[in-house]
Amino acid sequence: MAEERGGDYDTVTKVLRHSIRDQEDEMHATLSSTDPTAKALPRRHAVVVGGGMAGMLAARVLADHFEQVTLLERDHLPETPSHRKGLPQARHVHVLLERGRMVLEWLLPGLTTDLLAAGALLLDNSGDLATLTPFGWGLRFHSGLQLLACSRDLIDWGVRRRVAARPNVRLRQEVAAAGLVAASDGQAVAGVRLRPRHGGTAGHDGEEELAADLVAVASGRDARLPNWLAALGYATPPETVVNAFLGYATRLYRPPRSFRADWKGLHIQAAPPDHPRGGVVIPVEGGRWLVTLTGGDGDYPPTDEAGFLDGARTLRIPDLYEAITDAEPLGPIVGYRATENRLRHYERVRRWPEGLVALGDAVCALNPVYGQGMTTAALGAEVLDRCLRRSRAPQGIRPGTGRKFQRELARTIAAPWLLATGTDYRFRRTEGPPRRRSTRMMHRYVDALTRLATRNTGVRRRLMEVLHLLRPPAALFGPSILGPMAWAWLTGGAAE
Ligand SMILES: Cc1cc2nc3c(=O)[nH]c(=O)nc-3n(C[C@H](O)[C@H](O)[C@H](O)COP(=O)(O)OP(=O)(O)OC[C@H]3O[C@@H](n4cnc5c(N)ncnc54)[C@H](O)[C@@H]3O)c2cc1C
Repeated sequence: MAEERGGDYDTVTKVLRHSIRDQEDEMHATLSSTDPTAKALPRRHAVVVGGGMAGMLAARVLADHFEQVTLLERDHLPETPSHRKGLPQARHVHVLLERGRMVLEWLLPGLTTDLLAAGALLLDNSGDLATLTPFGWGLRFHSGLQLLACSRDLIDWGVRRRVAARPNVRLRQEVAAAGLVAASDGQAVAGVRLRPRHGGTAGHDGEEELAADLVAVASGRDARLPNWLAALGYATPPETVVNAFLGYATRLYRPPRSFRADWKGLHIQAAPPDHPRGGVVIPVEGGRWLVTLTGGDGDYPPTDEAGFLDGARTLRIPDLYEAITDAEPLGPIVGYRATENRLRHYERVRRWPEGLVALGDAVCALNPVYGQGMTTAALGAEVLDRCLRRSRAPQGIRPGTGRKFQRELARTIAAPWLLATGTDYRFRRTEGPPRRRSTRMMHRYVDALTRLATRNTGVRRRLMEVLHLLRPPAALFGPSILGPMAWAWLTGGAAE
């Protein structure tokens, strides 16, 4: 059953507005508890460490709150949509979820139009993308929920151009942050120690210090922030790691001229524990396909020619293999294995310096196979904006803001973390905190729901809204789901 596009967007926007208002009310309540007599932070200069998605979006937000923003990136940032060393994951499939695109559009209006003009595509998640779930094909209908499909390099380029165009944002490339500078009272961060990539003139080993009223650390999965905090005498945060030992192998193809299919993108989901391998074909700019094979439980997809093709051939269905056999390879096969979910609980550390925030993969890196990373980074930027707006005082920013931001961010991250780690616990070898009974019960519930979603449009749509982070996971227990689920149980349809 096709639904009206306008109606879909209305619903989605309404949901988003409500959720933002609820979060704003909650944040207002927490921020107003700050001691009003404590010294406010000036809003002169903010420094962002890392020029990936989280760093760029943080810089964009900070530009509204600080006179000057400096973003430090250790790589050279290309003028065109092209690869750079600090972003090895950019060679692999990156899709942007609807919620992420909404936040990006809000921060950088016109971005989608730019990207579409440069060859990106908007894929309707169930109209254009054919998805083989563990229980059969996902229903095909026009859902109005769109995935932005293009190379990661193109998205980054679009975001970077728009952020760099802000008059008070300065991108400093080829400089690596090497640590934090403590304020004289030891209670705050007063700047960043940085090291130009090609050496410099100032200080030992070319190191220099850059003063800042606020430092935002967004230097990715391997961020050294725990060490930097320890060097200033602060405790390092506890970490939770859930590792399904999942690997990627990716290759760019030119589709065969004669290729015809009823899909623009194809997703063969893994069905762990028995089928730990999956695959995806995503159209990207330049009329090309990005083809990724994945394998969990340490069953990493091979990166040699014969092994890659064999991996494609032995997926649960032959469709991906058949699609690429006559396609023209456009480059090497590249692998990637650092996919563990890693959550650094900065919100739990007892002492948190003033003038510091951390966001993006530096706080929560997710198994990328669920496509949530850029959206989660965007949500972090949204929280930062709300938090700074709420904590504005006449002389600057109220003390305690960084700590409150980390707490609010932790609450926001909870949903994508639950979705990613919950699914990862389906693999046999997954390492992490022990599986709870509730996880097994949840798997059974989601199985029944996914099965139902292969024949009930409303259920599939709701499931997709949760996966696009437009609704919280609790929405899977709402009346619009429980009704059809109960009916399916009564008629024996939920367990087929
Ligand atoms: C294989 C793979 C596939 C993925 N697919 C998807 C997908 O389909 N959809 C999705 O939404 N997300 C996906 N992700 C996740 C996504 O890439 C990230 O979650 C998201 O980009 C947020 O990253 P970030 O900006 O926090 O970190 P990063 O993207 O890692 O950026 C960190 C930046 O900091 C710089 N840096 C590091 N240290 C320093 C330093 N000391 N000084 C200065 N600069 C420094 C690095 O050079 C880099 O530019 C995928 C990830 C992987 C690994």
